[in-house]
Amino acid sequence: MSKPLQAIRGMNDILPEQSPLWRYFETTVAQLLDCYGYRQIRMPIVEFTELFQRSIGEVTDIVEKEMYTFADRNGDSLTLRPEGTASCVRAVMEHGLAGGGQVQKLWYHGPMFRHERPQKGRYRQFHQFGVEAFNLPGPDVDAELIVLTWRLWKKLGISEHVTLELNSLGTSAARAVYREALVSYLNARHDQLDEDSQRRVLTNPLRVLDSKVPSTQTLLADAPQLDAYLDDESREHFVGLRARLDAAGVPYVINPRLVRGLDYYGKTVFEWVTDQLGAQGTVCAGGRYDGLVEQMGGRATPGVGFAMGVERLILMLETLGKIPEELSRQTDVYFCAFGETSELAALALAEQVRDALPGLRLQVNAGAGSFKSQFKKADKSGALYALILGEDELQAKTVAIKPLRADEPQQTVAWEALSKNLQVFFNHDSSLTN
Ligand code: ATP
Ligand code: MG
Repeated sequence: MSKPLQAIRGMNDILPEQSPLWRYFETTVAQLLDCYGYRQIRMPIVEFTELFQRSIGEVTDIVEKEMYTFADRNGDSLTLRPEGTASCVRAVMEHGLAGGGQVQKLWYHGPMFRHERPQKGRYRQFHQFGVEAFNLPGPDVDAELIVLTWRLWKKLGISEHVTLELNSLGTSAARAVYREALVSYLNARHDQLDEDSQRRVLTNPLRVLDSKVPSTQTLLADAPQLDAYLDDESREHFVGLRARLDAAGVPYVINPRLVRGLDYYGKTVFEWVTDQLGAQGTVCAGGRYDGLVEQMGGRATPGVGFAMGVERLILMLETLGKIPEELSRQTDVYFCAFGETSELAALALAEQVRDALPGLRLQVNAGAGSFKSQFKKADKSGALYALILGEDELQAKTVAIKPLRADEPQQTVAWEALSKNLQVFFNHDSSLTN
């Protein structure tokens, strides 16, 4: 017998039990972004490989070893998107969305693909919400992006468990001078570096700052620091950002070693980190990429953005028990009909109720079943009320409303009065107004 088919390692099904929490998270983020004036854009999941090579940078972890790249039938090299910024910038350029200096504030969400070692909080297909703003060069928009994520953490109830780390990378000219100083410092200590960092000194020296190897971390304690090399403009930008975060009451720590893994960042970079998820502690990361559009062949266009990892945030909500109470209940009313004729009547009645009370979550029992088994299902569904339609009710053209949770008496109402009666019960239930 052949082996049962399985999903690809690191690519997960999101099961019905998990979907309500995902939906809650997605709706919360989408509503918040709407309120801040950001508009949704949806890009394809597959792009030409060249897009990522040109935007993310050849000597980054993503492009060097994490991309799912394959040949299309006509020989084109295609890649499953490893992140969204490149595609978003491509779409903005292709459709002239930021032409003539017009401001564009966008968000997107969806699956991203990276060939990494699967572990808790790290998958090969994972999901991001991304936000990008174009043609806003000042620190005010950097601050807005951070402030809105801070509001999101508060809304989700996790703000006490995340820390904002902040740094400025300066302009590419400033970074080039710094890079030389760093390289000569590291070269003088070449033998003490871990193997990965030795390689990075040659390819992408700033990434050495990112190293998680303790001996390399120790070595870096006395290394030249980027902030000493910052140009005036970047310094001023950073001061402006910090003033705004202080004014908005968003706490942060400056992390002079925060460099981010992608080449396109300059000036502001930031990460929201948590100690709740072990090694996969970054839940949201971003920064400014004023040079990216130009690097991709367009006109100089300031840009800034971030992406948050949905799986990691969902894990946090689960770990911290921040799952809203109402998500546990997915049914309001469960309709039990007994006998074929009753079932037909129940179907018609249920449709009438759905007409009258859009938003009411009403399940009609499927198929026959004993009294006992139907009530078991009704109870399991989480419904607040069961409707009962048996022989007697059919004759009398009534239906019984049985409270399943509250200690209220069962009542019997005429078919015409069913919707009205249910409306009274659910009047204060937010599920009907959402
Ligand atoms: P990490 O350092 O954890 O590898 P990264 O710097 O590669 O993260 P970004 O490219 O900045 O990540 O992506 C933004 C966010 O997307 C991350 O902060 C994280 O929350 C999430 N993320 C990135 N890669 C993965 C993955 N393989 N699985 C799950 N979430 C991920
Ligand atoms: Mg990574």
